[in-house]
Amino acid sequence: MVRRVIIGVFCALLLVTASEAVTIYPIHRATILAGSLFDFKVEFDGVVQPDKVRVTVNGAEYTQALGRAATFVEKEKGVDKSALVLRDASIGAPGIYSVTASDGVTTSTVSWEVYGTPGPRKAKNVILFIGDGFSVAHRTAARILSKGISEGKYQGMLAMDGMPHMALVGTSGVDSVITDSANAMSAYTTGHKSSVNALGVYADRTPDTLDDPKVETIASLAKRKLNLAVGVVTNTEVEDATPAGMVAHTRRRSDYDVIVEQFYRSGVDVLMGGGSASFLPKSTPGSRRKDDEDYIAKFQQAGYALVTTDQEMRQAAANPSTKKLLGLFHPGNLDTVLDRKFLKKGTVEKFPNQPDLPDMVRAALGVLSQNPNGFVLMVESGLIDKQAHTLDWERAVMDTIMLDKAVEVGKEFAAQRGDTLILVTADHSHGLAIVGTVDDSTKGKDMRDKIGVYADAKYPNYPAPNAEGYPDTLDVSRRLAVFFSNFPDYYETFRPKLDGPFVPAVQNAEKIAVANENYKNVPGAMLRTGVLPYDATQGVHTGDDVVLTAMGPGSERVVGFMENTDVFRVMAEALALGN
Ligand SMILES: [Zn+2]
Repeated sequence: MVRRVIIGVFCALLLVTASEAVTIYPIHRATILAGSLFDFKVEFDGVVQPDKVRVTVNGAEYTQALGRAATFVEKEKGVDKSALVLRDASIGAPGIYSVTASDGVTTSTVSWEVYGTPGPRKAKNVILFIGDGFSVAHRTAARILSKGISEGKYQGMLAMDGMPHMALVGTSGVDSVITDSANAMSAYTTGHKSSVNALGVYADRTPDTLDDPKVETIASLAKRKLNLAVGVVTNTEVEDATPAGMVAHTRRRSDYDVIVEQFYRSGVDVLMGGGSASFLPKSTPGSRRKDDEDYIAKFQQAGYALVTTDQEMRQAAANPSTKKLLGLFHPGNLDTVLDRKFLKKGTVEKFPNQPDLPDMVRAALGVLSQNPNGFVLMVESGLIDKQAHTLDWERAVMDTIMLDKAVEVGKEFAAQRGDTLILVTADHSHGLAIVGTVDDSTKGKDMRDKIGVYADAKYPNYPAPNAEGYPDTLDVSRRLAVFFSNFPDYYETFRPKLDGPFVPAVQNAEKIAVANENYKNVPGAMLRTGVLPYDATQGVHTGDDVVLTAMGPGSERVVGFMENTDVFRVMAEALALGN
């Protein structure tokens, strides 16, 4: 009893201490590239007197390390507490920096590691391939479907399998063990951890989504320090978190209008994907902008060739006078490769001229490689994630094969030159696993009876891959059994969704997710009771590590376990961005 009281008092003290803390950005244990720009911010818990404020770096007045004085804000908007803000600070000398801030009552200390990039520049070009939500089971299933397997051995390897360096990558963010694509991508592009929904910023306490402490992206560094070309290629909307992470600074990834403006101001040389709805002025039908800015016109006036179909893209890329390329092929996300090449479902009928991701990479490389200084290119196969959310694993795996085919294009480019670092990874994982096969010929009343595990699984009987490396059909009699670890209530059909992308659950009038009744009458469909909160209509990201595969100059640093922020460091070192 006494002990419980003591613990109670102790906890109360902890709470008091926490609420009076002084918060410093960049946060404790931040790793910062020497010479990169970052916003320095100190948040005080209450209105404080400026003459009571003391901030030191390694024991000396902070202005010595950071170069100039911060602005004192007596009452931050929406918070009514004081803060110190210094935009675009940087530290040139590598080392450990201990930063202490005090308001005269409370003191906080954080430690930063500022790192340089010793040695000469190793890579002329960097290509970063991201499979959004790309998990180990996606990779294994892609190898089975696109290469075949017998005698326990694959008939071939994926392009990414043949790369010499590999590591496991930790994906957690500042605020949570589970990341989203925004803070995960920011870790790759800035070397700083951040919070769910935040792009290129530390999430501060004020409600304004555009005033958070910024950190510099690799796109900015590549242009500012080396005058490299920068390319962003995706099959999602270009404003979506992963592509946006190359240039954006916002606390809220859904700030699409702002993200388009930030792309425009970034000077990105090649930008291709979907999401044209956020480029069109409000008055244009199909626009989702809140203003009348016409970003298609703005990009064109800035010298970008605009392409909206596969054919236009090929023509523009083949034209040596194309130095800047804007490709917008869809108002929203492009369709999956299963829908585009095989089923003609999704929105393919309405948008029949969408390019294939490997061709987009080929076009981007053609334009970017004209820059004699080199380039940084990010390529995303983004629908792996979208289809994993909707438990549509076949679509996700086919888009993983497409990712690998895009990697093949990158490898061919690199093979001719030897000066290109290639990284292939995911921003986070999803919870799916291959457990065996579903065999329609197995006797039994329910589909569960037809799940073969261990020896009964044998091998699936997908057709041999076609010339491009895809199986021509997924609807075979003995197919992979893949199940998810997390899901809403939904009907498991044990079959590929040939009528169009899967919609496992929908929200009812009370905002409760219920299994989508459209699948109730699929023969053998089984209701699975969800494990997620009642409003979730989809599966969610998982905290499992992701795999990073790499080749080319600088890739030898890819080994063992790495934080996602270390992946930025690999690219920065290969390009010697800290010199
Ligand atoms: Zn996702």
